[in-house]
Amino acid sequence: MQPLWRKIQQQNFTDWKKLAELIQLDLPLPPNKLKFPLNLPVRLAKKIRKATPDDPILRQFLPSFEENKKSPLFISDPVGDTNARKAPKLLHKYQGRALLVSTSACAMHCRYCFRQHFDYETEDKSFSEELEYIRQDSTLKEIILSGGDPLSLSDRQLKSLIDNLAQIPHLKRLRFHTRFPIGIPERIDAPFLELLKTCRLQTFFVVHSNHPNEWDEEISAALKNIQKLGIPVLCQTILLKNVNDNADTLHAFFEFLVDQGILPYYLHQLDRVEGASHFEVSEEEGKAFMQELSRRLSGYAVPRYVQEIAGESSKTPISF
Ligand code: SF4
Repeated sequence: MQPLWRKIQQQNFTDWKKLAELIQLDLPLPPNKLKFPLNLPVRLAKKIRKATPDDPILRQFLPSFEENKKSPLFISDPVGDTNARKAPKLLHKYQGRALLVSTSACAMHCRYCFRQHFDYETEDKSFSEELEYIRQDSTLKEIILSGGDPLSLSDRQLKSLIDNLAQIPHLKRLRFHTRFPIGIPERIDAPFLELLKTCRLQTFFVVHSNHPNEWDEEISAALKNIQKLGIPVLCQTILLKNVNDNADTLHAFFEFLVDQGILPYYLHQLDRVEGASHFEVSEEEGKAFMQELSRRLSGYAVPRYVQEIAGESSKTPISF
């Protein structure tokens, strides 16, 4: 039987006309058959203000004609994933940790996703090559489950993967990178919590969220259940034009997060992926926001302002 969260996911909006009806939007709409199509959970769609084209949630998911704008600076692989690919589903960029592209599927499609052009195609549905690479490299201490969104995998698939990772003696830590609970908090159900509880590896749970309007009490409660297991929950945020490029919004958001014990981890300068140039906020503006946030927030509530530069040995801090 399908779990509730999977049934909810199947209700996602994938047709613009239906979404436009709900949010009473009268705009020329792009075709539905895009390479990176509309995919939006109902919960998030219901939070979009009616007849408001510049709503901060809508902006993140609305396929826009601006995506056709070409710029030589905005490319298909802005963060150097291709060069870091050591096995079909494994990226190894930084010392001590590697990233598993555990699936291509997501609970939603964010228009600025830096992996929207990633070649996910692979015949092998198991992780045998990836696990073998990890086994052979004893300098690896941490595995990041990313994607796509790792919570798109079934609990059975996740358990098998995590059990295999936990059997590798040199691994100590497991990190989830996910946006799933922001759209479908029902994903954090009892079987998933049980899976986390029984894992040998110290686990970290990093959610991706960009605006306080994305949240509600059920999302907070779901993440609280993860915190109750002793698993730190962090949040990474992308600085996005006409979404959160405002000191008051960022201030309110980071304060909201720490009030729930969630640490703002990174504020990312936009990765320059093809089709997303209309989301870019200049570094100068970003620095000014960071200066103001540092004045207005406790130190632990201020995320690190960073940029990913292809080929670098870590995220690059942007000093302000
Ligand atoms: S949830 Fe993450 S991986 Fe999926 S489309 Fe959004 S940014 Fe990309």
